[in-house]
Amino acid sequence: MLGKAQTRRGSPSGDGTTSSKYNPSVSSYRGRLAPSPTGFLHLGHARTFLVAAKRANQFGGELIFRNEDLDPDRCRPEYVSAMYDDLRWIGLQWTEGPDCGGPYAPYSQSQRRDLYLKTWKALRDAGSLYPCTCSRKELAMAATAPNDIDDEPIYPGKCRERADASSFDSPASVNWRFRVPDGEKISFDDQHLGPQTFVAGHDFGDFVVWRRDDVPAYQLAVVADDHAMKITEAVRGADLLKSTARQLLLYRALGLAAPEFYHCDLVRDEAGVRLAKRHDALSIRYLRQSGCTAEQVRERALQL
Ligand code: GLU
Repeated sequence: MLGKAQTRRGSPSGDGTTSSKYNPSVSSYRGRLAPSPTGFLHLGHARTFLVAAKRANQFGGELIFRNEDLDPDRCRPEYVSAMYDDLRWIGLQWTEGPDCGGPYAPYSQSQRRDLYLKTWKALRDAGSLYPCTCSRKELAMAATAPNDIDDEPIYPGKCRERADASSFDSPASVNWRFRVPDGEKISFDDQHLGPQTFVAGHDFGDFVVWRRDDVPAYQLAVVADDHAMKITEAVRGADLLKSTARQLLLYRALGLAAPEFYHCDLVRDEAGVRLAKRHDALSIRYLRQSGCTAEQVRERALQL
């Protein structure tokens, strides 16, 4: 049975009877900017972060900067400094972050491993995880293509019935997957896009929470951090809607209340392709270097 905290909107079984807009009387608003330093930030990030700042301001709350530098293969220090610089240039301010400290420091994910390990242990002890030793080749051969090309393939389930999770003292060396409740509808009321429903096992499968190269996965880290940093609303791009459904399952397995979610519409290029960090010509940095003012970049990000 779900506890009181988990029946709030945002939990997989929320009853949907509460208001669809953030209610600042519930708790004081804490939002976050959570970029990953894997490239220069583009107009899509600018839009998301401007909306996040607007919401924090509208609800008289705080805005936290979290550096999501979890993946050592993809993150670069030069992009960390570029993130601060570009976001300040477009006029954003935050009250807690790696550069200014705060009560929930450290604010860089690469320094928060202890919390992620504790979270992995809690999920393992709850019986939610299993170790997966499938090779990349096996996965590529057996996996069902997801119905969304941007998403990871649905795990075919070979290691699913393994019962040896408790014999591992550390997550290193195998992939750890979260066992999703096949067929369960995961619903939440998005603050911007309204009611959303995804079906576990169909829209996404058993997802990795800890990688075999000993790096905690995004889904685990973001849940651990949003909870530990007392985030009340996560504003992010609509490309992460399905990740929200996965994260709601993690909150439930951990017995934690989920924050509210506000997913921003995605910014696309002229060909209709969603912006990625490889779209250098639409990076804040490039636009700034080519003479655009911060006001012009803000307007363009919110118009597109
Ligand atoms: N770090 C993620 C990204 O840059 C965003 C994560 C989130 O907002 O939950 O795409």
